[in-house]
Amino acid sequence: TLPVLAVVGRPNVGKSTLVNRVLGQRQAVVQDMPGVTRDRVRYPAEWAGRDFILLDTGGWEIGVDGLDEAVSRQAEASVDDADAIVFVVDAVVGATDTDMQVARMLQRCGKPVIVAANKVDSASQLPDVASLWSLGLGEPFPVSALHGRGSGDLLDRCLKIL
Ligand code: GDP
Ligand code: MG
Repeated sequence: TLPVLAVVGRPNVGKSTLVNRVLGQRQAVVQDMPGVTRDRVRYPAEWAGRDFILLDTGGWEIGVDGLDEAVSRQAEASVDDADAIVFVVDAVVGATDTDMQVARMLQRCGKPVIVAANKVDSASQLPDVASLWSLGLGEPFPVSALHGRGSGDLLDRCLKIL
């Protein structure tokens, strides 16, 4: 069976965009607004000659239990299925309370985690990235899922821990 790399994070941080970047075509559903009901989706992926499964977490209904709880539950379910995790954070917004809550769960999960500091579309946004050390999950990796900036380096790093 192929190793599983799960992509977790709040709605709208760019998880599906990152998955599409890796897949090389638009397959994962990208939403401008959170709230679409869609569970975890597994995509066969290949990078640098290695086959693996990319696990995208879809949207969810907001308002049932509150966003924090819904995000945490989705992330936990993904982590159970994963061999390694990419935790996507919006570097422009910075770490939110929800991000911190997910980070605490990931610290305890016992699996390798890489923080993707997404939406770093230009070098001028690089200073935003350092604050994400506060998540307590090691070095945040700047990436622009939309434009592809840094995505190859991120994937190289992910495959090292997968
Ligand atoms: P998800 O809910 O985490 O799966 O987020 P999506 O992939 O659906 O993206 C949410 C929104 O953020 C979309 O409008 C994307 O185009 C946008 N987005 C994703 N990645 C980037 C990025 O690297 N830079 C910028 N500027 N926008 C991005
Ligand atoms: Mg998505």
